[in-house]
Amino acid sequence: MPVINFGAGEPDFPTPDAIVEAAIVACRDPAMHHYTPTAGLPALRAAISAKTSRDSGFSASPDQVLVTNGAKHAVFTALTALLDPGDEVLIPSPYWTTYPEVARLVGGKPVAVSTSPATGFLATVADLEAARTERTKVLIFNSPCNPTGAVYPAALVREIGEWAAAHDLWVLCDEIYEHLVFGDVVQTSMPVVVPELADRAIIVNGVAKTYAMTGWRIGWLVGPSDVVDAATTFQSQVTSNISNISQRAALAALEGDLSAVAEMRAAFDRRRTAMTSMLNAIDGVSCVVPDGAFYCFPDVSGLLGRELAGGRPTTSAELAQQLLATVHVATVPGEAFAAPGHLRLSSAISDDDLVEGVQRIAQFAAG
Ligand code: PMP
Repeated sequence: MPVINFGAGEPDFPTPDAIVEAAIVACRDPAMHHYTPTAGLPALRAAISAKTSRDSGFSASPDQVLVTNGAKHAVFTALTALLDPGDEVLIPSPYWTTYPEVARLVGGKPVAVSTSPATGFLATVADLEAARTERTKVLIFNSPCNPTGAVYPAALVREIGEWAAAHDLWVLCDEIYEHLVFGDVVQTSMPVVVPELADRAIIVNGVAKTYAMTGWRIGWLVGPSDVVDAATTFQSQVTSNISNISQRAALAALEGDLSAVAEMRAAFDRRRTAMTSMLNAIDGVSCVVPDGAFYCFPDVSGLLGRELAGGRPTTSAELAQQLLATVHVATVPGEAFAAPGHLRLSSAISDDDLVEGVQRIAQFAAG
């Protein structure tokens, strides 16, 4: 029986042809065979500035942009620039595993702020305030969220942003899933609705999810010039410029339209509906309908301790192992996101595999 893999953290689509063609042209351009400025090709920095204003509504000049080796690298570089040893970083959980690890790697202290399915996995100001100390320096704000698919409504983004501004915190807004929101849900950029945060906000983004370009490794951060200058100085000793070929591909992506992401959004929308309704039909499983990204994050605690087809799992990590061993379905256990009792299932998988995979989970759960 082939494994059905719900683990993917990337779109199951190829990069659009026009972007690939731009990379081929760049390969033949001798100027691209040599070092270029650390902060990024000037044309790409200008395109990112224009795109940030078009999509997020946030105005930043090209010299407030640093091109990085993917958004993950942007998170690392931003936290390197911002944190002193022992500084605390608030991270609403469930969270993308990289945030606390990077915070620790650069000497900071991650502080998880837990949220629950009952509130749609949205942190409130009260939750955040309860975790704030005099060492709190940064709030990481990821909306739409990996792994929950939660999207913060504008009013809550404003409230949280005003709270952060009032306490002189920095916010790192990871907007990588900005175009993957469904129905009438909209993504709101925090420094746009709270302009007084503009000089304490760093927007992290990239081409990976919007243009199916995870392997090209182009991301960026947009922030105040002094932070971008410090981050660029640091990056100049770590990577020099990011691959010119990938930068030219990213430039073509940003100069093009958003039709590819519109197509992917339609597929992810269809699949999230199918997946949540099938999951919710399983006794012991309960799944919030995600408003964004391409993951479902069902609560499977009702299955734990029960006699199931592959054993009697007591944790979601054990459940994930047994699903893989017994019905050949790969999922990511909630333990990876500080949310035991859950599984993350990606909908970046074909419609047929999705149905087959969730049916196998249902059979497994039926014992
Ligand atoms: N931020 C979030 C929330 C993500 O889920 C991911 C990918 N898993 C990234 C950033 C990383 O993006 P990139 O591939 O550009 O490093």
